[in-house]
Amino acid sequence: MTQAQVSDSPYAAGEHTVQKELAKLLGPSGILTGDEISHAFTQDWAKDRTGRCMAVIRPATAQDVSQVCRLCAEAGVAIVPQGGHTGLVAGAQHDDTDCIILSTQRLNRICDVDTDNLSCTVEAGVVLETLQATLKEQGQQFGVAIGSQGSAQIGGLISTNAGGVRVLRHGMMGAHVMGLEMVLADGSIVSSISGLHKDNRGPDPLRLAIGGEGAFGIITKACLRISPQWQSAATAYVGCASFGDALAMLRHLRGTAHEVLSAFEVMSAACLPLAKFVDPTLVPPLDAPVHVLVQLGSALDLPLDDMLENALSAALEQGIAADAVVAKSDRQVQRLWALREGLVEGHSRRGYHVRSDVSLRLGQLPDAVSALETMLAAEFPDWIAQSYGHMGDGNLHFNALPLETMVETQAREIGKQIEQRIFDIILERGGSFSAEHGIGRTKAGWFHETMPARHNLLSRIKGAFDPDTMMNPGCLLVREDAKL
Ligand SMILES: Cc1cc2nc3c(=O)[nH]c(=O)nc-3n(C[C@H](O)[C@H](O)[C@H](O)COP(=O)(O)OP(=O)(O)OC[C@H]3O[C@@H](n4cnc5c(N)ncnc54)[C@H](O)[C@@H]3O)c2cc1C
Repeated sequence: MTQAQVSDSPYAAGEHTVQKELAKLLGPSGILTGDEISHAFTQDWAKDRTGRCMAVIRPATAQDVSQVCRLCAEAGVAIVPQGGHTGLVAGAQHDDTDCIILSTQRLNRICDVDTDNLSCTVEAGVVLETLQATLKEQGQQFGVAIGSQGSAQIGGLISTNAGGVRVLRHGMMGAHVMGLEMVLADGSIVSSISGLHKDNRGPDPLRLAIGGEGAFGIITKACLRISPQWQSAATAYVGCASFGDALAMLRHLRGTAHEVLSAFEVMSAACLPLAKFVDPTLVPPLDAPVHVLVQLGSALDLPLDDMLENALSAALEQGIAADAVVAKSDRQVQRLWALREGLVEGHSRRGYHVRSDVSLRLGQLPDAVSALETMLAAEFPDWIAQSYGHMGDGNLHFNALPLETMVETQAREIGKQIEQRIFDIILERGGSFSAEHGIGRTKAGWFHETMPARHNLLSRIKGAFDPDTMMNPGCLLVREDAKL
């Protein structure tokens, strides 16, 4: 699908009444049509899919969002909410022109930071990195950190219930949500924002939007839990002989640094060359079959470097770790994290690859990695296994890269078979095929097939929020079931 095809659509600029109404409502800066719609809105981050839409709408207030929803409901036009468009399961794009993309980029105000209450209230389009920087100026921090934080927005993070590198310490995005403001399909604005830590006036129905991927309505504002900025931190890069030893290392650190253990990331050695696609000067500080990145952090001024060094010395003595380096400067910390954070982008820059986002009970991870790598070597010998992820949360990204000589169309065909095998191996072990990226459009079929009762119940609940299936149709819930 090319840009020209967007403007060739039957709903090209000026031809559809709802577009004229939306333009009247929001003014020229609030609507993009035809050739004004750049690929940033239609093509997903990984460049795997290109969607279509009749217009991109950019409201600046919740009242604007409400009016847009009313107009679209009257015209029978679907709405696809879009934040930073960094999602990895095609949730923020639609295959047809019968929808508008509602971008939250202009809903970008930080309304308050309440340091007594340890909360902040922000609009949905605030970029995570902007929030982190604002909080830091006030001696505070936000407990979610992910590789895409320079673009991902609060509304998108809530809608995917994003995870990232600090889940083992602070929990996923949903754990930080104290209240939400949402606009429903009929244009009504509903809020559960009270700023209260304790508020048991019945269950909050808006919490369905956490991980709801835009299927229940549009999040316009959120009240979020914050915490005091770290006063001390320590980072180490550890080499282990196997994923089994990496698990032993995690157990060991829990025993020695539990309260301050904030990140435990793991990468097989085969992944490391990928970071060079992002920065060719990145070199791991050690050689080992499995690389582990460990971070400790505390709001108190504690001797965390010493604590980490002592823990690592003991691990080396016990043979759990083969080698270890403790970072001695901020630059070294940054370079070690760049190795880990470069992987997602490195995979994408290399080209088409099979991507997965699975989770298991922590103790099952080493066996699952071994089963997946054995499967790939035996059944798909022209593919390279890449095992990495947030091991501290039992979250593995097992990816597979085709040899560079393989034609892309052939690779995509074989890729579907590999995805199915990964899915089988993880489900056999009671794991999940979506740990933190969500369901989107790419996994809606699997969700429907493997969890019909849950899918059905969610579809019926969606009916209360969105009776005519105007909100992100085909995302999270398969379309046939979505009107039950
Ligand atoms: C380099 C890189 C690293 C990443 N690392 C991680 C990681 O460590 N952990 C992780 O969990 N994810 C990760 N991701 C995935 C992605 O960044 C997250 O899913 C993120 O939460 C998406 O936010 P977004 O603003 O880009 O949302 P989008 O991609 O714009 O949208 C995601 C979904 O949310 C819906 N949505 C967006 N805004 C709203 C709203 N206001 N109201 C209702 N629905 C809405 C969309 O319709 C869509 O279904 C990574 C992605 C990249 C590219």
